[in-house]
Amino acid sequence: MNVLIVDDDPVLRKLLQRALIQMEYQVRVAKDGCEAWDILQREPLQLVVTDWVMPEMDGLALTRKIRKAEMPGYVYIVILTGQEGIENIVDGLDAGADDYLMKPFRPKELQARLRVGERVLDLERRLKAARDKMRDLAMHDELTGLWNRRAFYEHANAELGHAIREKCDLSLIMLDIDHFKVVNDRYGHLVGDEILKMVTDTIEENLRPYDKVGRWGGEEFIILLPTTSLSKAATIAERLRVSVSSTGLSFSLGQDGRDEELHVKISLGVAGIEAGESISFDTLVGRADDMLYKAKREGRNRVCVFTLENDNL
Ligand code: GH3
Ligand code: MG
Ligand code: MG
Repeated sequence: MNVLIVDDDPVLRKLLQRALIQMEYQVRVAKDGCEAWDILQREPLQLVVTDWVMPEMDGLALTRKIRKAEMPGYVYIVILTGQEGIENIVDGLDAGADDYLMKPFRPKELQARLRVGERVLDLERRLKAARDKMRDLAMHDELTGLWNRRAFYEHANAELGHAIREKCDLSLIMLDIDHFKVVNDRYGHLVGDEILKMVTDTIEENLRPYDKVGRWGGEEFIILLPTTSLSKAATIAERLRVSVSSTGLSFSLGQDGRDEELHVKISLGVAGIEAGESISFDTLVGRADDMLYKAKREGRNRVCVFTLENDNL
């Protein structure tokens, strides 16, 4: 763990430094608040032991500055000072310090107080990790690990805005498994789930790293293809159709142990914007969705691509 020592007295700095190194801290040293502030801008230090009275910027001003700033993580501040008296302690804590110690310091006490600081910082770390995990769970679909509808919507909406501003092509594919209800009815929900994962894997294997896939609904997926023309997207959609239908899911049928290979087919709708075109994301999704339903109507297991002529189909 790193500690930043701030003191204008070179003798005390040395003493503190030696004591903290003995306690196995990595130590950074500053001779006043200004220098400490500079160091904190460059390095993510989270434990600070600072003197109060110093030239340039004193310990209280430094504390207030840290509390006002948007630091990457919480900074735990211990004021170590010769300023005695309850009034001073109150002022120090009110400025935002977490703890207040009198000079001359007793190493054992300082160490115990820094351990308190480490516990606070550890608590913050764990809270952040829990928050990140919650955020991740809120964005992803549990079964497939894909982005859920809301996360996909936010990302794709921003990407569309970017494509419009930069006058780039962008395409969208919506795809839906054909007669998926039959799979569930015949083989059960667990096999249905495996099929959903297999389709997910097949889609991901066929895309570029910057293409994004989401689970739009039950057995419906959505794919965003940045900087991709409609005709290129149609080719990708056809490739996906062929890949999914040729990938089988092997599973044992239970009692007699026979292996069966299950195949599903998909229908796909494709829509996009050409460089310079400007439409809303909802319109784009609507067009891809219309094409998906056109593919269903025309017999499934096919790709339909949006053109302005079939806008009102
Ligand atoms: P179509 O070709 O018209 O798309 O027919 P379909 O049977 O695929 O469509 P329908 O909307 O009638 O049925 C979709 C089925 O998908 C019904 C639902 O139980 C199933 N489904 C949705 N989500 C899941 C899931 O997470 N796991 C499993 N196993 N099935 C799911
Ligand atoms: Mg379906
Ligand atoms: Mg469906």
